[in-house]
Amino acid sequence: MTDPKSRAWKEIDLDALAHNARTLQGRLAPGCDLMAVVKADAYGHGAVPVAKRLEQEGVTAFAAACLEEGIALRQSGVKGLILILGYTPWKAAPLLARWHLTQTVADEEHGRSLNDAGVPIRVHLALDTGMHRLGIPAEDTAALDRLYGMEHLEVTGVFSHLCVSDSLTPEDRDYTQAQLDRFYAAVDWLRQNGYDPGAVHIQASGGILNLPPQPCDYARAGIALYGAVKDEGLRPVLAVQARVACVRTLAAGERAGYGLEFHAEREARLAVLTIGYADGLPRQLPQSGGRVLLHGQFCPMVGRMCMDQLFVDVTDVPGVSPGDAATMIGQEGELEIRVTELAQRCGTIPNELLARLGSRLGWVIHRGK
Ligand SMILES: *Cc1c(COP(=O)(O)O)cnc(C)c1O
Repeated sequence: MTDPKSRAWKEIDLDALAHNARTLQGRLAPGCDLMAVVKADAYGHGAVPVAKRLEQEGVTAFAAACLEEGIALRQSGVKGLILILGYTPWKAAPLLARWHLTQTVADEEHGRSLNDAGVPIRVHLALDTGMHRLGIPAEDTAALDRLYGMEHLEVTGVFSHLCVSDSLTPEDRDYTQAQLDRFYAAVDWLRQNGYDPGAVHIQASGGILNLPPQPCDYARAGIALYGAVKDEGLRPVLAVQARVACVRTLAAGERAGYGLEFHAEREARLAVLTIGYADGLPRQLPQSGGRVLLHGQFCPMVGRMCMDQLFVDVTDVPGVSPGDAATMIGQEGELEIRVTELAQRCGTIPNELLARLGSRLGWVIHRGK
């Protein structure tokens, strides 16, 4: 096997993950447990090592996006609840049953098709309280009646998803409160009509960070668990580094890279790094103020990013040599580049950048403990 650090790689700090899990758990109401959202390979952090470490920390509930992710977790030995958050077609009901996966019911029609497959499965009912993505309209009690009556569906949970809980504007806070009110009204209706809602959950990261503790059984944490939010109490879990391939000197007036985008206004030294947009870095980063850490100093990305390489200006950093490690995301000494910074520069969210990190990056997992 080649050295994972030979070209470009991510480093995963499982102790930071454990710290975040404990911190978030501490902000939940008594009796409310963390459900770790490990979809999209745990936001690029590696679903299996993440889930295994969280199990050691006492986490017993996980959420995946789709059937394949759920099966992969089970095959790696993850126990406890695995909730599939996305749509699974009825034909896969035998697989849901065989792997003891709990399926989200996206709407009444989805529930009926799963039931008609004739295989007993466990489900959580998604309630639409205002996001209008998945879910049975929360006030449609007739539909809830019918779903509870379906012979092959065992309802073990009821949940909803908040769509503006990351925002603190008065308007958005009102909308979130209306979603909460609709959700608890539906849960109350179930209880009053003799239906067991099972595990009740509505908060994701935004809801955990911005709302008071909720009277629920779970809170589904994704991005906050990975420390990619602005919160002093949480630590980044992932770092990305690459190597210096070569260093070259350009005379004043020379240009470099595709489109000859970089102009040397003075004699300049450029380092070529072994990472590019095929590794998941946004191609516009050099033009959006993107920078790396090299020898403990910030160096600006310059020129056009290539598929597998990029340029940084190291004119003011003496001693940069081929083979040196540069940090795209992470900490060197006192200085740090956070994925939130990259996201802000590129007009996106950390979730997208993390989920898009390329599969050819090497993996270094610090197991800690
Ligand atoms: C992705 C997702 C989450 C996790 O969201 P974060 O904001 O990353 O915590 C929770 N619930 C549902 C339904 C999701 O799709």
